[in-house]
Amino acid sequence: MAAEEDYGRPAVLLNPLEGDPTDADSHIGGPMLWPIDDEWPSCDADGEPFVGAVQLYQRDFPELPFPGGTDLLQVFLCTLDHDTPGPDVRLVWRDSTTVFELIEEEPQPSQQEELYVPTVNVFEPIRYTEYPAKISGGTKIGGWTAWNDSDPLTFACPECGAVQRQTLSLGTYEPSGDNVEWVFGEDGNLNIFLCEKDVHHPIKVLID
Ligand SMILES: [Zn+2]
Ligand SMILES: [Zn+2]
Repeated sequence: MAAEEDYGRPAVLLNPLEGDPTDADSHIGGPMLWPIDDEWPSCDADGEPFVGAVQLYQRDFPELPFPGGTDLLQVFLCTLDHDTPGPDVRLVWRDSTTVFELIEEEPQPSQQEELYVPTVNVFEPIRYTEYPAKISGGTKIGGWTAWNDSDPLTFACPECGAVQRQTLSLGTYEPSGDNVEWVFGEDGNLNIFLCEKDVHHPIKVLID
């Protein structure tokens, strides 16, 4: 049984909408703010470059647990299936004010599962309080996990034992009907859980 204060959780439905964002915008599937001197992330399992999937600025989404000195969360996906079916996920917490010269061209993987490749979207966020009895399956920050196939699970950080908290969820279906056109599992969600104590600790990714 959840603790009383845990019952209603703040959530932000990102509410994606097709658009034409720049690297200076929060978006899904648009250009990433990536400095020319940083190595572009690639997948350990297959060596393919990751695909820039989501970019969230602190000015738009202060609800995210930005570590000190950072103001941008970048989410990368390896858009292939892995041992656990689904894409691999990499998070980068960045200080956007220190990026001056950008990468000229984002590396493209030689192959991708079309199911995991998003369309290009901006956001019209909706802020609300989410309760376990009424959980949105849309793409969102915070809130509760929309368990589609499994019974509710809890996860502990493998590094420090603290609770890993539902932080970002990418949804197959948006409440608006404007789907991003990626598909996770059985039309479910790709949920990203972060250590409550330190977001740099290993993350948990669960498709359900
Ligand atoms: Zn991979
Ligand atoms: Zn931890």
